[in-house]
Amino acid sequence: MMDYDVKTHLHEVIDHLPQGVRLVAISKYHPNEYIEAAYEEGQRVFGESHEQELRLKHQSLPQDIEWHFIGHLQTNKVKYIAPYVTMIEAVDSLKLLREINKQAEKCDRRIKVLLELHIAEEATKYGLTLDDCRELLAAGEWREMQHVQICGIMMMASLTDDTEQIRREMQTARDFFDEIKAQYFAGDEAFCERSWGMSDDYPIALETGSTMIRVGTKIFGPRVY
Ligand SMILES: *Cc1c(COP(=O)(O)O)cnc(C)c1O
Repeated sequence: MMDYDVKTHLHEVIDHLPQGVRLVAISKYHPNEYIEAAYEEGQRVFGESHEQELRLKHQSLPQDIEWHFIGHLQTNKVKYIAPYVTMIEAVDSLKLLREINKQAEKCDRRIKVLLELHIAEEATKYGLTLDDCRELLAAGEWREMQHVQICGIMMMASLTDDTEQIRREMQTARDFFDEIKAQYFAGDEAFCERSWGMSDDYPIALETGSTMIRVGTKIFGPRVY
C-alpha cells in the first residue's frame, strides 16, 4: 500500500509545465513502487544522488528509464554509473569531467553532463563559481573529450524564504548560460539545458528560463532517511 498519492502530485507538476520544460522526478530515498507509480503515468526521467541506491534501482526498474545523477559524485564512483546513466548533472571539477570522459570511453559511450554552478550564498553547496567555470572553459581541455557532451548548466538556489534572492540567483545562472553559450557553444544545439528549480522554488525557476526542473518532495512526499 502506498501512503502517498504519487500520481495526483505528479500531475500537479507536469500538467502545468510550459512547453520545452522537462521534469526530472527526484526519487532518492523513495521506494521502487513510488517510481513505478510515476512511470505508469508516463514519467521516464528520474534523478538520484547516491551511487548504490541508483545501482539497485537501475537493476530492478524498467530499462527505458533515463537516470540523471544529481548529487555530488566522487571520482571513484564514476565507473559504476558510466555504463547506464543518461546524464550527470553536477560536474563540479575538471577532475570529475576527465574521469567521466575516461569511464565513458571504456563503455564506448558519450555521457551527457551539466556544469554545476555555485551561486547560492550557503557555504555548504558544491559547484563551480562563475569564475571557476569560465576558467575551465577557457582552458579548453574539455574540447578534446570525445566521450562527454556538455549540455548546459545546473544550480541550486539558496534555501531561503526570500523569493527575490532566489530569483536573483536563478537569473544570475540564466545570464551566465547566455554568456557561455555565446562564447563557447553558439553552434552547439546540444548545449541547451538549464537545470534549476526544486519543490519549493520551481515556479520561480520557470520564470527564469529553466528547461529542467528537479522536483522530489512535491511528487513523492517527505523523504525517509
Ligand atoms: C533532493 C534534490 C532535489 C529535489 O529536492 P525537493 O525539495 O525534494 O524537490 C533537487 N536537486 C538536488 C540536487 C537534490 O539533491
